[in-house]
Amino acid sequence: MPNRMKRSLRIIALLAIAFSIPPTIVAQILPRYDLLLKGGHVIDPANHIDEVRDVAVFQGRIAAVEKNIPADQAAKVVDVSNLYVTPGLIDIHYHIGHGGAPLNWFTPEARAHAIPLGIPADMALQSGVTTIVDAGTAGAETFLEEKEEVIDRAKIRVLAFLNIVANGMGGGLEGSLDQMDSRLCAATITRYRDILVGVKTAHYWTKEPWDAEHVPWAAVDRAIECGTLASVPVMFDFWPRPERTYEDLLKKMRPGDIHTHVFAQQFPIILADGKINPALAEARARGVIFDVGHGAGSFWFRNAVPAEKQGFIPDSISTDLHMGDYNVVSMNNVMSKFLAMGVPLDDVIRRSTINPASEIRRPELGTLSVGKDADIAVLELMKGHFSYIDCGVAKMDGDARLLARMTIRAGRILYDPSGLSMVEWDKARPQYFYSPERGDSLPARADDYPRD
Ligand SMILES: [Zn+2]
Repeated sequence: MPNRMKRSLRIIALLAIAFSIPPTIVAQILPRYDLLLKGGHVIDPANHIDEVRDVAVFQGRIAAVEKNIPADQAAKVVDVSNLYVTPGLIDIHYHIGHGGAPLNWFTPEARAHAIPLGIPADMALQSGVTTIVDAGTAGAETFLEEKEEVIDRAKIRVLAFLNIVANGMGGGLEGSLDQMDSRLCAATITRYRDILVGVKTAHYWTKEPWDAEHVPWAAVDRAIECGTLASVPVMFDFWPRPERTYEDLLKKMRPGDIHTHVFAQQFPIILADGKINPALAEARARGVIFDVGHGAGSFWFRNAVPAEKQGFIPDSISTDLHMGDYNVVSMNNVMSKFLAMGVPLDDVIRRSTINPASEIRRPELGTLSVGKDADIAVLELMKGHFSYIDCGVAKMDGDARLLARMTIRAGRILYDPSGLSMVEWDKARPQYFYSPERGDSLPARADDYPRD
């Protein structure tokens, strides 16, 4: 609650005591809620809600999700009619920080000249995302840097999969077996369980010839070993070769393990006869999870569209946002592609909220349940002609587009670029018109609602 609001509540309470006003009357004077989102269409798959309801927030938590909550019960009311109100979205494939890429990557003496992979964590707020999961940018040796430089400073909630490679991604060591210490990996996860939700393996020996050290399954086996030791899921980014087939990977995966990049070019999702590979259904029946992880090189309509038509939709929608794709890809962009492929909106929301929450074993996220953190997305479903592209530079038309209008994290309005929650500038309170030159101490803002 902002300090000024707290101050005025304290004054009301003191006056109530001074004039012996009964508590029931005081309760009528004080607003019950800090924020009320009024008139929006709520989609909360975890609670089976798909209808117009009001959502009230108090002290950073969801306080009520009901029909017709009176506007005078809230200190701030935002009209969200004709918009969708959903749990804050969860993107379980994102990249922050620099992993193993040294920060002197641009100098001649640097070991690796790759640009650090990560983008700012809070960029995801632009899509209504309130929780991101870094997909193994850092490993056991680089995680603390990532934590101190990015995770601890982000406004968005940041969780992470720990790379089985201790150096992480981008440092040129992703093929080094001496970097893949499953015990060190598991010990790090155990120590930072509040952040680390799983193990990641990626980019291991995709083209190089095999040798005595570099055997086909080394990275996969060590990641599973770490996942077993720490009792967490493994997320697989994988490149099939004749000596390690896609079908064998699916067989190796344990229930709850996550296959990301499912519609990438390298996976035989659709067989020569146009039918979906039966190995996917077999794996899914065993509890294997399929995730989108769109990225710059992992989403082809030629795999996604026939799979969707045959009833196979990935369990979770995620972006794989990093330095190489943030111009085009966003959570809203990837979700819109699934709308274009015919997946209903409520299903797209499910695969962007409660499904990823349960995959990372954080069922308290991705819902609007009363008492949970008030992480909320306000989304607009635009109708019209829109085109979407894949990583094979092919396109597909659609008639809808999802656009985040407001993102709320623990009750704070962190993204509201069109001012849904703001007043017209010329109707703002006097304080807004203050000039710092006159020595006014209060910020020249139109309201005190927490926005950062
Ligand atoms: Zn990735």
